[in-house]
Amino acid sequence: MPKADLHTHSVYSDGTSSPREVVIAAQKTGVGIFALADHDTVDGVLQAQQECEARHIPFVPAVEISTREHDHLHFLGLNVNIHDPQFAAFLAHNRQVRVERIKKIIAQLQAAGLNLTPEDVFSRAPNTVSRAHVADALKQKGIVPSRQEGFRRWLVPGQPGYVPSAGVSVAEAIRAIKAAGGLAVIAHPGLTQAVWNFPAWKEAGLDGLEVFYPAHTYTLKQELLKIARKYDLFATAGSDYHGPHSGRNSTPGMPVPQPYYDRLLSKLLKR
Ligand SMILES: [Zn+2]
Ligand SMILES: [Zn+2]
Repeated sequence: MPKADLHTHSVYSDGTSSPREVVIAAQKTGVGIFALADHDTVDGVLQAQQECEARHIPFVPAVEISTREHDHLHFLGLNVNIHDPQFAAFLAHNRQVRVERIKKIIAQLQAAGLNLTPEDVFSRAPNTVSRAHVADALKQKGIVPSRQEGFRRWLVPGQPGYVPSAGVSVAEAIRAIKAAGGLAVIAHPGLTQAVWNFPAWKEAGLDGLEVFYPAHTYTLKQELLKIARKYDLFATAGSDYHGPHSGRNSTPGMPVPQPYYDRLLSKLLKR
């Protein structure tokens, strides 16, 4: 079965590898089409694109946008114009909202008695900051043994450092992606089943949904393919690769049945 990966992260957001290293890892697993989709930034895209061109891997410029409607309600913008000034301003605003959230998280952790400074966190995040950088700082200070434990003990709902997502609405995220010439795809829909609203999202301009995703079961994939047919959405594939020591799956690339793979290529590469 051919492999695709339209959802990977680098050090430009919460991944642990450079864009170049992510491309190299993707080629090792035999990925036939690749996208770097860092959170709220496209600053790593050119490096990934150059590496893909050198290796003759079809490349898709992309981004992953968080929304305030759910901690995991994220949208991928595939084939966005990374030079669009309005889109750049939109992403810069989202990054600023993240900075405010992280500052609140740090204040709450300090109030809970942890010795953690803003510098400990922000020095780890040259581009888009995220809760993963807080978790990594906790790990570096010996407060937790791993990024996952940092999340579990301190950063998720019910724990002392939890602050709800801020940022844009779903409709705003979809519209910004479309305005930048991209295709809007809901990322990992299996993580947000409780808040699914495909009629409204389709109305806002949704183009696709990420069906082939590591955490999606066979049954869920079948259900998502049914939704794709009902709302005329195309199915995408992404590993959400974050690099070594991220606590995520260790290799990029998702196998995609040939008919869906062919549709992916025709949707994303004919422009
Ligand atoms: Zn996501
Ligand atoms: Zn992601």
